[in-house]
Amino acid sequence: MIRFNDILTQVQTTDPTADLDLLKKAYIFSAKVHAGQLRQSGEPYLGHPLEVAYILAKLRLDTETVCAGLLHDTVEDSLVTTLDEIGNHFGDEIAMLVDGVTKIGKMTYASAEQRQAENFKKILIATAKDMRIVLIKLADRLHNMRTLEHMPRKKQHVIAQETLDIYAPLANRLGIQWIKNELEDLAFRHLNPAAYYQIILKLSKGRQEREKFVEEVIQLLKNLLESHNIFAEVKGRLKNVYSIWRKMQVQHLEFEQVMDLTAFRILVNSVAECYEVMGIIHNLWKPVPGRFKDYIALPKANMYQSLHTTVIGPGGERVEIQIRTIEMHLVAEYGIAAHWKYKEGGKFVYDRDSEKFAWLRRMLEYQQEVSDPKEYLDIVKVDLFSDEVYVFTPLGDVINLPAGSTPVDFAYRIHTGVGDQCIGAKINGVIVPLKTKLKSGDRIEILTRKGSHPNRDWLDFVVTSNAKAKIRDYLKKQERESSIALGKEMLEKALRRDKISLAKLEKSGKLNEVAEKLSYNSEGFLLASIGYGKLSVATVVEEITGEKETADEAKESSLERILRPLSRKEKGGIRIGSVDDVMFRMAKCCNPLPGEPIVGFVTRGRGITVHASDCPAVLEMDNERRVEVEWDNNVQGVTALSKIIIYSQDQPGVLANISKAISMEEVNIAEIHSATDKSTLEAQMTFSLQIKNLEQLQKVMKAIEKVKGVIRIERLRR
Ligand code: MN
Repeated sequence: MIRFNDILTQVQTTDPTADLDLLKKAYIFSAKVHAGQLRQSGEPYLGHPLEVAYILAKLRLDTETVCAGLLHDTVEDSLVTTLDEIGNHFGDEIAMLVDGVTKIGKMTYASAEQRQAENFKKILIATAKDMRIVLIKLADRLHNMRTLEHMPRKKQHVIAQETLDIYAPLANRLGIQWIKNELEDLAFRHLNPAAYYQIILKLSKGRQEREKFVEEVIQLLKNLLESHNIFAEVKGRLKNVYSIWRKMQVQHLEFEQVMDLTAFRILVNSVAECYEVMGIIHNLWKPVPGRFKDYIALPKANMYQSLHTTVIGPGGERVEIQIRTIEMHLVAEYGIAAHWKYKEGGKFVYDRDSEKFAWLRRMLEYQQEVSDPKEYLDIVKVDLFSDEVYVFTPLGDVINLPAGSTPVDFAYRIHTGVGDQCIGAKINGVIVPLKTKLKSGDRIEILTRKGSHPNRDWLDFVVTSNAKAKIRDYLKKQERESSIALGKEMLEKALRRDKISLAKLEKSGKLNEVAEKLSYNSEGFLLASIGYGKLSVATVVEEITGEKETADEAKESSLERILRPLSRKEKGGIRIGSVDDVMFRMAKCCNPLPGEPIVGFVTRGRGITVHASDCPAVLEMDNERRVEVEWDNNVQGVTALSKIIIYSQDQPGVLANISKAISMEEVNIAEIHSATDKSTLEAQMTFSLQIKNLEQLQKVMKAIEKVKGVIRIERLRR
């Protein structure tokens, strides 16, 4: 067990001027509060805060953080202490840290999944407030994981899974390698004990032989470097159990086939020496192609820097080697904590403006916009947990993005405006589809056009949380606008029967009054609610005229009345081209074409509005108003106007060739608009086409796609 003196010693090695009295006071306070309390293991509770404080001291954190570690459970686990008390005794800063940790700990959600998501969100929020809070939480979790076997079996599983899902990746992202490794192994041991102990067993069997080999390699490397006058520290480190298992899983290997169980590490004094050592090693042993990575020139997002290589070493064995400076090593071990620095007063300060934590800021930027914690977790997971690619801006700046990112992710990383108005991209000078996955080393140029907007389809391929949130944000705004327009249209029509002008109501402020009466914030919200189908027009009309609809009118507008003729007819559904007793109209928002899946919505006074099934407006419609409709295949010779937009290189002849391709498909062109973007030298053409059915549209679009110079083609819904 850790003794309080161990903590004092550890703190003093980091900061000889540390306030030891404050630490003593916190220790005594914690001991008093936890007196008589026991952990699940049956040991005195005080052992836990001591261990947590010791881990924090080992991370070389400041006295305030270590104190908060001693106090971190005093508010939560006992009813006698309040935050005010902590504030009075230890000051606002420590109280704030304790409060932050306590808040993360509270578990309010029933399902493990929901709780995990909510917890994670809280952690990020706390982190934004003060980085140290998350470090205390990590230390807390680390000790709880070390003593997990005392928990009930079912809880063990939940906690271990959460550790693997969230805390280990978080430690990784904060750059604290040893905590990440230990958390992973502890969680793995509880989640899959059979696999864990099998690897442990196999590791112990080959141990002597392996240790001999490791010693040999270390000596070889040392001698080699000394002969070049480089005096380096050379170490061999066994990889953690979980990472060995992951490798077996991902590459479908048996344990015996995992070659590089040990990673060798060479610590030198300067960056120049790093590259020199790399050269010397590659001169002696052949490097394995594709395994050399320069994280010095291109640091990871968690600030990690190193050269990595794998060589065919003595006896033909693969040897993995990491080369870095002592400074880089500190960052690799302590991560974020290594970036605390002394202020003049002798206190630690954290360089908040550092671009190094931009990823965290980005994730927090929009956490307020996404209220569902599960959705939030889903969004940020990719940013937090995946590998990275390194790409370049046209000016040569390095941008790192999660693996799988596309030009759209890149565009949003540069600036929201660039993302929103992105219409195309060049990778290494060549125009590519927007869904192309970026590779490290690519040089990306984004083509934009003023007034252009995000496309819903982008959501299918973007991976970064930032891009996802921004695109969703735009779509939401747009949906709201179209709902307002629809609501306005519906209300206008209904009022016309009473000879009331909506415009006058708006001008006189009467509509606002009505909105307020029906408890809507503004007339915009009122109209949007009508458009969404959440509020019936009748209710609003009634509020305006002060009269209830007559029984007849109500009957006339009822669902059954409009539907009856429909169900009496043969099961073909709506008839296109011969309007019988069912009124229908094609929704303007999506202009559905014969042959494509459709769905109808009953609207007051206008019969049935037919939308394409994948029309965004459908999602917002009231399900009670929904009716199944189908195309009547017997009707021929009907065409509908369909719009497409074509982006192409601005070359002579492209437009002519496109027109030719269209007429080859026997499609009439009703209208053409074209424009050229001078900055990107890209042409954009809008065609209105007379189309018979979906099949024909698809055929003609395919034909256009084949025209030389065409970059991208899209169907415009309106
Ligand atoms: Mn605790």
